Amino acid sequence: MTIQFYNSLTNSLQTFEPLDPPTVRMYSCGPTVYDYSHIGNFRSFIAADLLRRFLELTGHDVKHVMNITDVGHMTEDDIADGGGQDKMQAAAARVKEDKKSGKVPAGAVENPDDPYQVAEFYTQAFLNDARALGLKVANEYPAMMPHATQKIPEMQALIAKLIEREHAYIAADGTVYFSVESFDQYGELSGNTIEKLRAGEGGRISDDVIASKRHPADFMLWKPDASHIMKWDSPWGEGYPGWHIECSAMARQVLGVDTIDIHTGGEDLTFPHHECEIAQSCGATGATHFAKFWIHTRFLLVEGEKMSKRKGSFYTARDVFEGRVTGNTVHPAVLRYELIKTHYGANLNFTVKGLHDSAAAVRKIQTTYNQAVYESKSSAQIDNSHPVIATFINALSDNLNISEALAVVFSFLNEKNANPAEARAILESLDSVLGVLPPQDSNASSSDTTEGPDTEAQTWAKQLDTARKNKDYALADEIRQKIIDAGYNVQTTKDGTVIEKKLA
Ligand SMILES: [Zn+2]
Repeated sequence: MTIQFYNSLTNSLQTFEPLDPPTVRMYSCGPTVYDYSHIGNFRSFIAADLLRRFLELTGHDVKHVMNITDVGHMTEDDIADGGGQDKMQAAAARVKEDKKSGKVPAGAVENPDDPYQVAEFYTQAFLNDARALGLKVANEYPAMMPHATQKIPEMQALIAKLIEREHAYIAADGTVYFSVESFDQYGELSGNTIEKLRAGEGGRISDDVIASKRHPADFMLWKPDASHIMKWDSPWGEGYPGWHIECSAMARQVLGVDTIDIHTGGEDLTFPHHECEIAQSCGATGATHFAKFWIHTRFLLVEGEKMSKRKGSFYTARDVFEGRVTGNTVHPAVLRYELIKTHYGANLNFTVKGLHDSAAAVRKIQTTYNQAVYESKSSAQIDNSHPVIATFINALSDNLNISEALAVVFSFLNEKNANPAEARAILESLDSVLGVLPPQDSNASSSDTTEGPDTEAQTWAKQLDTARKNKDYALADEIRQKIIDAGYNVQTTKDGTVIEKKLA
């Protein structure tokens, strides 16, 4: 079996072979914890999870690291010098407002001016959302999900190494910069070479800052600033690290190697963030590659348009779960399915209609699986050579071709399967990648609404049958509506009324 992925570093489809098989070392840029993560963020995180799960199904031992950015970086950190407002201070002000409006529970974040409390609150919110959405790495917190604030010494060691190897320097104002001219490969990922940057840079940076730097594209590694809300001692003065350095430091420290197999992230991170990660990591270690494969997820659109705070389409995962998008609560498995069903290399158009289609798809997978579990106490023994699994793997081996993989799933669901033990095993294997069935293990998410209807609703279903039997259709309609309003789908079958919790 040959596995191919599209590598952003070479702009081509390439055969994937781990450096140290069967281990795959993979790093994904993770959430910032100044706010709830939105569905565009989650699209990228779930794409990495799908990749990881596929590699695991094909026998790899995936060591997956995802960082948590909790250092109070600046709102304009995407430009080289960290201008703008401190993101943690901005978050503190917003949390105070959100506590008044109830968006942040009154008991949470006792002191919003303490950035660690704000970060802790949003970290826990992220972990809850991520676990509900089946992100395996969230179950490995904190070992595989380190906080940037816990890795300051590792960042400082990397900065010291870069100074020693003359890839970094201390400017007149004390700021430590990476020297892009010292690194020949700069621009290899994004195409933003030093020559191109010199022509375009400068508009938003003050002349003072430019004067203190050797090249306008040199980016900050350490900023001495005793007035910053989060600050640490360092050989370069009390201050805080640049944003890019945390990923280079954490990938190396947690994964333990200079060159990793795969680095993932949203396409918006390609430049400057990922370009700078490469410069720092290879500059400090001398390695030719920081990551052999760079896999980027494209944008998420909402109803065909860019997500927009102004238009109210900047949806968080919990906006979707809690019914603020569709008017009904949405099961996390449905959102997960919606976010994986479009190929990672294409823009995903998130729509309410799409969510309903995803709910139907998830319902079908779950119903077939529940039926198989009902009919068979255990799963048959199958392996990846089983024709259904082999075809599924074959589809995903082709640069994670999810449409073809889902076509395999649905053609299997549409067959009449004689052997429930085998059907059960097949679905468990497929779902080890899809992640839409309720978790099998006990420590997994408990945010489940797929459990059976509550007893009150079941009583109503019996009353509905009785009313029908008595031909009291007015009463039957009334009860039926009551069941629907309580969040159930109602079906009339030859065995009477069947009710199921709505997924979306
Ligand atoms: Zn990163």
